[in-house]
Amino acid sequence: MRFEILTIFPNIFDSYLKESFLKRAQKSGLIKIATHNIRDYADDKHKKVDDRPFGGGPGMVLKVGPIFRAVNDITHGKQKNAKKTRVILFSLRGKRLDAKIAKRLVKYDNLILICGRYEGVDERVAQYVADEEISIGDYVLSGGELPAMVLMESVCRFIPGFLGKSESLEDFKGSYPAYTRPETFAPKKGKKWSVPEVLLSGDHKKIEEWRRNR
Ligand code: SAH
Repeated sequence: MRFEILTIFPNIFDSYLKESFLKRAQKSGLIKIATHNIRDYADDKHKKVDDRPFGGGPGMVLKVGPIFRAVNDITHGKQKNAKKTRVILFSLRGKRLDAKIAKRLVKYDNLILICGRYEGVDERVAQYVADEEISIGDYVLSGGELPAMVLMESVCRFIPGFLGKSESLEDFKGSYPAYTRPETFAPKKGKKWSVPEVLLSGDHKKIEEWRRNR
């Protein structure tokens, strides 16, 4: 699976994608992640990617041209295969990302992720370039870069082999509280934080039941 990220801040992705599961999945060839600087697709000598909004109002808006050319470049100008490639624009007006959407998106070979910035993106990107708009929640961030990372990781967890051999507790049994050693932790003298007895009992039926109830 390929992720192509369009952003004006490609460096943001450097550290996160080079750790843990995402690092391993890229190394093994399970996924490929490429960042593209929207600025490289500007068509003037100042490399301008944003401009003032028509009709007035605060802030700057990302221009449609550079984003259109970037997506075109990635899809090689060919009519993109709608079954294989999906172009996603991060937007507060988009559908709210959840596990169901992540499961649907894992079926594509290529996800092109457009990260907005400033006051947002010229609406013609949503109208003509993107296939869908996605929000990661009802709060305003300064750009689509964090949403892109959230989306990638949530989608990747549905790629067979991404988590290795280990099963995720959440995926298989629903989320439940977990404890590890020590059995009793003393944050200070005379105080004890203990692990629930049942988890130390070795009685698997009881443990299962306790977890379900939680
Ligand atoms: N002025 C806009 C906010 C723009 S935030 C408004 O009030 O609606 C700048 C960019 O960050 C957006 O274009 C979008 O790409 C991204 N962004 C911010 N918060 C987001 C969220 N919760 N989900 C997805 N994208 C978000």
